[in-house]
Amino acid sequence: MSVFTSWPPNLTTEQLDQLTVLATTYALSHSLLYLPPVSSQNAPPPAPESAIHAPISLIPAPIPRRLFSHALTLQRAYNTLYARVALDVSFLDHVMGHGGVADVDDFTSALWSAWKRLRVDGVPQPLHLGLFRSDYLLHQPTSDDPISLKQVEFNTISSSFGPLSQRVAGMHRNLPINDTTKGLAEGLAEAHRAYDDPDAYVLFVVQPNERNIFDQRLLEYQLFESHRIRVVRRTFAELGLTASISASRALIIAPVIPGLNADPVEISVVYYRSGYAPVDYASPADYATRGLLESSRAAQCPSLALQLAGTKKVQEVLTRPGMLERFLTQEEGAAALRGSWVRIWSLDADDGAGAEEAVRCAHELVLKPQREGGGNNIYRDSIPPFVEQLPPQERAAWVAMELIRPPRSIGAYLVRSGAGRVNVHVMSELGVFGWALFGEGREVKEKQAGWLVRTKAEDVNEGGVAAGFGVLDSVLLV
Ligand code: ADP
Ligand code: MG
Ligand code: MG
Repeated sequence: MSVFTSWPPNLTTEQLDQLTVLATTYALSHSLLYLPPVSSQNAPPPAPESAIHAPISLIPAPIPRRLFSHALTLQRAYNTLYARVALDVSFLDHVMGHGGVADVDDFTSALWSAWKRLRVDGVPQPLHLGLFRSDYLLHQPTSDDPISLKQVEFNTISSSFGPLSQRVAGMHRNLPINDTTKGLAEGLAEAHRAYDDPDAYVLFVVQPNERNIFDQRLLEYQLFESHRIRVVRRTFAELGLTASISASRALIIAPVIPGLNADPVEISVVYYRSGYAPVDYASPADYATRGLLESSRAAQCPSLALQLAGTKKVQEVLTRPGMLERFLTQEEGAAALRGSWVRIWSLDADDGAGAEEAVRCAHELVLKPQREGGGNNIYRDSIPPFVEQLPPQERAAWVAMELIRPPRSIGAYLVRSGAGRVNVHVMSELGVFGWALFGEGREVKEKQAGWLVRTKAEDVNEGGVAAGFGVLDSVLLV
């Protein structure tokens, strides 16, 4: 495994400059694109023609071949597991509802209440579609330990960068091939076909001023080019004005500007690239809009239940003895999933012992709340003061997780548009995409759908590409 002590290859400045030109021109000519950040508070959002190349790594991340294959294999079992969790109403009520996280976390409470209301109203459960991404880090606590792969988290909402990661792999031109765009679009197309109206559209629910627009558009073009399925994009604010439910519970979207965009369209699948963070809901009206969309016959990607299933709290509860095994048999791969986990416990475990242990072992832990999108976690030395000021009743909203410890000292060249190239020590996070289409009383239909690698400097805690810390990368199998 010598590559882990002498990586990346030592290149001259001239060689690196040449590689940088090759990489950035490849990115710009293959839609490996991003929008620049808003320049100042009152500036207009950047227009599409201001596109820049996405942040990228010049040289792929070395990952042992057997661990990479193992991660791809695990995906099928994870797809099935989270489909079954989302269908287990009493489990989700118990963990995420009243008496659980909803009592101590506003955002969870709003999502869970919206879901509860739908059930009280007796709305027939629509099909759920998950486009998932399971994230891992290489783990090697000491140099005597074998390198293994441990799960960081499982994403059930807005799992992004599939199409762009396919393009990074194309840029590095490495095996194995990475067909995320086709794989994710297949999931959406499968749910669309289940709706049984070829003229219906897929609705993309998007954030205003999305920077990651090209990652989303590539899926949209794939849906049309391979499946002849059309897409309509709307923000929650626009949907508040244009969405309605017909007598037969079809979801109907009117044009934003009356008369311009022809007739209203019927929706087969609602695909959320917004709605995972509190800021996505500008007012209670946006939660009501989310509830309205889910009260239709259109498949929800994800449903509220599936979004709640994808929380860190559920990840923690599944690690408890016997819990995973309620959802997945040994033949279906339960032991292999457990093997991909590090220790996680709730801060409110055992009458305060959970919090005490988090303080005592702070240097090897991360604390996580029920949030997505990066930048929400508390690390190492910041944990004790944080736990001490946290009201004890809010502990249930936080989980403590053992830090995964990647092998040391791998370097990389990271390139950001406008910021040039840096040579730094890095950590790479492998994400595996999958989809699952499921509903009450039917077999879970699911597939693995490609992968991504995000790489960040070793000395920053969080690697979000959208948050500006990480870059898109691919693998060199070693
Ligand atoms: P989010 O849903 O906000 O992406 P994550 O659980 O993925 O939350 O945490 C964000 C980042 O924090 C990860 O991408 C990773 O860089 C770091 N991180 C999270 N959990 C661990 C862990 N157990 N060990 C090491 N790093 C972690
Ligand atoms: Mg996440
Ligand atoms: Mg994450």
